[in-house]
Amino acid sequence: MRLDKLLAHTGYGTRTEVKKLLKSKVVKVDGVIAKDAKQKVDLSKQVVTVFDEVVEYREFVYLMMNKPQNCLSATRDRDYRTVIDLLDDYYLMFDVAPAGRLDRDTEGLVLLTNDGKLAHEIISPKKDVFKRYVAHVTGELTETSINQLEAGVEILDGNNDAFMTKPAKVKVLGPVDDLTAVEICITEGKFHQVKRMFASVGCKVVYLKRLAIGALELDESLALGEYRELTDKELDCLK
Ligand code: URA
Repeated sequence: MRLDKLLAHTGYGTRTEVKKLLKSKVVKVDGVIAKDAKQKVDLSKQVVTVFDEVVEYREFVYLMMNKPQNCLSATRDRDYRTVIDLLDDYYLMFDVAPAGRLDRDTEGLVLLTNDGKLAHEIISPKKDVFKRYVAHVTGELTETSINQLEAGVEILDGNNDAFMTKPAKVKVLGPVDDLTAVEICITEGKFHQVKRMFASVGCKVVYLKRLAIGALELDESLALGEYRELTDKELDCLK
């Protein structure tokens, strides 16, 4: 990897800031002052230091974000801002992407990572990782509707093919103004799945927020649009 990229990846600033570090002769590769930003380095064979501090390479980054509405869980878009647009420059170096999608008008937990294997583990319906949402819905949610949602309902997927949802967990939380707040846990992520599931029992979702992915809970101290790195404990609970 190029030396400037390595230093940017390991928290020594933007590429421009890294160039300044190199100019000020505080970066060494195997004890020799390094000046060339393009120099290739391999941390498995070489020791890079900045101010005599050994540089440890970070391969993976894991972030939790509280996605606001009107923001896409995509990497880039012409018309709307994306979750990537909300990141500091430092994290852009890692090429993180959202693991799974939320609708533009859905708020809440998005995991951003460059660890494709972990992202797959979370997204794949075969892995049966529960995603927990709170939905505010119109209409009457009867005992029968709850049982239907829990057992599986027929909805259309993203290609408009009929699709039977896997078993879900549903808990009515209570009234919110003239709506009903409901917690729903599902293991799949078909297009508009929660909205379509409620629609199948005659309810309309007017507000939706994801609270958890498996054992990873949204940190409620994150304001909408804020994010932070996962703690080691949080990461362990996803693996
Ligand atoms: N289900 C939906 O309908 N929308 C989301 O954003 C997530 C799940």
